[in-house]
Amino acid sequence: MTDFDVVVAGGGPGGSTAAGLVAADGHRVLLLEQEHLPRYRIGESLLPATVHGICALLGVRDEVERAGFVRKRGGMFRWGSNPEPWTFAFAASDRMAGPTSYAYQVERTRFDTILLRNASRLGADVREGHRVLGTLRDGGRITGVRYLDDTGREREATARFVVDASGHTSRLHHDVGGAREYSPDFRNLALFGYFRGGARLPEPDAGNILCAAFDDGWFWYIPLSASLTSVGAVVRRDAAARVQGDPETAFRALIADCPMIRDFLCGVPRATEPPYDRLRVRKDYSYDRTSLRCPGMVLVGDAACFIDPVFSSGVHLATYSALLAARSINSTLAGLVPEERCFAEFEARYRREFGLFRDFLRGFYRLEADQRSYYRHAGAVTGRDDRTAFLDLVGGVSSADFDTLGEVLAEGAQLQLRGLLGADAGEEPPMFPGGLVSTSDGRRWRVPDA
Ligand code: FAD
Repeated sequence: MTDFDVVVAGGGPGGSTAAGLVAADGHRVLLLEQEHLPRYRIGESLLPATVHGICALLGVRDEVERAGFVRKRGGMFRWGSNPEPWTFAFAASDRMAGPTSYAYQVERTRFDTILLRNASRLGADVREGHRVLGTLRDGGRITGVRYLDDTGREREATARFVVDASGHTSRLHHDVGGAREYSPDFRNLALFGYFRGGARLPEPDAGNILCAAFDDGWFWYIPLSASLTSVGAVVRRDAAARVQGDPETAFRALIADCPMIRDFLCGVPRATEPPYDRLRVRKDYSYDRTSLRCPGMVLVGDAACFIDPVFSSGVHLATYSALLAARSINSTLAGLVPEERCFAEFEARYRREFGLFRDFLRGFYRLEADQRSYYRHAGAVTGRDDRTAFLDLVGGVSSADFDTLGEVLAEGAQLQLRGLLGADAGEEPPMFPGGLVSTSDGRRWRVPDA
């Protein structure tokens, strides 16, 4: 008998989603988070699929709504050869039209705390100030973790499954075998900070993210409230010298080089209260793994892979992979579908979603082009009509169109529908020939009817 059915390392969006969905299915879950929440994190611009899909499945959408985060209807890009900025709206996609056509810009201190407290409410044993040190192994199977508790004592917990959701600094991910591989295409450095105010785009787009390119990279400009703006410069590796030395001087010089951002921040003071009072630097190199799982262990979120932040896909990929992992664990523990088949479905869907963003981003960075060519490139990557393809990608509801039954509804759009309608969302076709489908509550896999 193991101490737990599942141990989750890390209480960010990936860990809280996995822990919540497994605990809600009646299993014994231990979540170990090294910090005490609320704690700071970058990654503030969400996608509709997270808000209306995952948050709804977790039963936390109303609470997120009540938190009063800024509504994001889409985004504005000043990018490529066209000097004029262009805007996209999630509502222009048929997959997000209506009540699911927006996301939020969130302070991660508050958003991550909502998700973690919710995991606890759903039945997970959540322990903060507990740091996972390594895994336990029995032959070819991971059987638990070693961790330091909040008094500094080393302990062990055994489990049928370990979920590594400990983010980009994970020290466990090696234990599934394979290797982390850094992409030669996206090797950037980010320097970012916060301002007290700043200009807003005209309504109804005041809550949109703005991405503005300049000679050495691009800026994000994210309105977190009427009086707080997140601003970050993402600088190409060949210009890395620009973020070395005094960060204050470097940040000012970078802003001066990007006319749109400079004008939006003209005369606006920096935020002075923690955690927004300092500049931070992050190497945001993108990486993937040759292996995402082994018997008894699965990687989700940044512990598994990370793709450049320009399309705000990080929290979406973290929570989506956590959902796939939770479905696989719940179905295995319930004895519904063989373990290998469940985790093969996890891996195929996760790699597909990650791959869509990666392939599209390659062109987005390389093309010295205009809005129309970016849309065309999105169409080529996803196989859909160009404009819709772009909107679906940047909303996290992109399509899989290789299903034998004809066009399938995108996984993210399915998630949103399931979040809204529950069992009434109806039968979901498999994403892959011979693949599995979700149960009506979204929490398990099942073999589709013949
Ligand atoms: P995390 O959010 O990193 O959470 C991991 C948790 O594990 C942390 O709480 C950590 O304390 C805990 N932990 C770590 N080690 C241990 C241990 N040994 N034991 C116990 N606990 C541990 N994403 C977006 O969606 N939108 C954006 O606009 C966006 N902008 C970004 C900008 C930059 C510059 C970068 C670098 C990333 C950005 N991202 C964005 C990506 C986003 O930050 C991540 O993808 C997301 O936070 C991943 O969630 P996670 O749950 O996998 O990991």
